[in-house]
Amino acid sequence: MRFADIPGLEEEKQKLINAVERNHVAHAQLFYGKEGSANLAMALAFVSFLNCEKPSKEDSCGECASCRKIDKLVHPDLHLVFPVAPTAKIKGKDVVSDNFAGEWRSFALDHVYGGASDWLGYYGFENKQGNISKEESRQIIKHLSLKAFEAKYKVMLIWLPEFMHSAAANAILKILEEPPSGTLFILVSHNYESLLTTITSRVQLFTIRPFEDQEIVGFITDKEELSSDKAQKIATLAEGSLNEAIKLINQSEADQSDIFGDWMRNCWQMKYKELIDKSNDFHRSSKVAQKSTLGYFLSMLRDALIVQYSPGLLRVKEEEKDFILNFSKAMNSDKLEFMIKEINSGLYHLERNANAKILFLDISLKISSIIRRS
Ligand SMILES: [Zn+2]
Repeated sequence: MRFADIPGLEEEKQKLINAVERNHVAHAQLFYGKEGSANLAMALAFVSFLNCEKPSKEDSCGECASCRKIDKLVHPDLHLVFPVAPTAKIKGKDVVSDNFAGEWRSFALDHVYGGASDWLGYYGFENKQGNISKEESRQIIKHLSLKAFEAKYKVMLIWLPEFMHSAAANAILKILEEPPSGTLFILVSHNYESLLTTITSRVQLFTIRPFEDQEIVGFITDKEELSSDKAQKIATLAEGSLNEAIKLINQSEADQSDIFGDWMRNCWQMKYKELIDKSNDFHRSSKVAQKSTLGYFLSMLRDALIVQYSPGLLRVKEEEKDFILNFSKAMNSDKLEFMIKEINSGLYHLERNANAKILFLDISLKISSIIRRS
C-alpha cells in the first residue's frame, strides 16, 4: 500500500510524511477513523514508507523487497493482531491472531476499508463475538522480545483494539509505554469511545476523517465502469465510507427491483411470514444498504405516480418500465401517495436510529392493509 493508492486525504498524508522527515515518529500511535475510512490503508502506507529501501520524498517505492513484503502483509517484522473467536478446530489458548493470519491477510488485502463484521463474516465465525484475548497479549510481548529481522522498524499493528479484553490491555500497558527500541505500536481503531483510557492515554492520536464524496467518486469510477450519476448517488449514500460505497456498487438495481416486486406481492397477498423474513433481512443489512433499499422503493413508487398523472414524463430503464406500468394500473394515486408518505417517514426514523426490523415490518403491515382497500 502506498499513499498514492489512497484517494484524497492529502493533509493527513502530509502529516505522516513530515513526521518521518523530521524524525518525530511516535513509538505508539492510534490511527482512528470511522469504519470505511482509510485508517488501515493509511497505517499500511505509513509502515511501507517508514521501512522502504528507496522512498521518494512523499511515498514508498512500492518495488523494493520491504515494500513488496508489506504489500502482501508477509513482512517478518510486521506483526498483525486482530479480533478472533474460537472455531470447531481452533480453541482455547490457540485462539490468537497468528492462527488466523492467512485468512486475515486475504481479507485485508481485498477489504482494506472493511470493518469488524466484514472480517467476522469473511472468516465465518458464525455470529461469534471477536476478541483480543489475554493470551494474545502474551504473544504480543513474545513477538516484541525478538530482534527485528530486517526492517528499520519492527511494527506491531493492532487492528480494532476496541475488541481487546481489559486483561489483555492491562498486560500490554508497560510495553506500549516503553516498547523496545526500533519498535512501533500502530493501533487502528474504528471506535474511539470504546477504547480503554489506559490505552488512549499511552498513544499519540492520529485522526483520519471520512472520505469526501468527490474522493469516493474518483476512486469508484477508477475501479468500475459507472455513470457519473450513479457514482455520485453511491457516494452520497455511502456517507464517507469507502467500504459501503464498494458494497453499493455490487448491489445491482436489478436485485433491488426484484426485492421491490416481491415485497409488493407479499404485501398484497398479506403473507405475514414472508414479510417478517424480509424485515429480518432488512435488519441484517447495513444502514447504508437499508437507506438505499428504501430510497429505491421510493423512486419506484414515485415513478408509478408519475405514470398516473403524465405518463410522458416517465424516465426509467426499459426493464423497469413494464413493471411500473402494470403496478401503476393496479394502484390508485391515493394508495401510492400513502405508500410514499410511509416510506419517507421510514427513512426519517431510520436516520434517527429506529429499530430497522420493527420499522420495516410496520411499513409492510400498513401498506398491506391499505393496498387492498377499494
Ligand atoms: Zn520500497
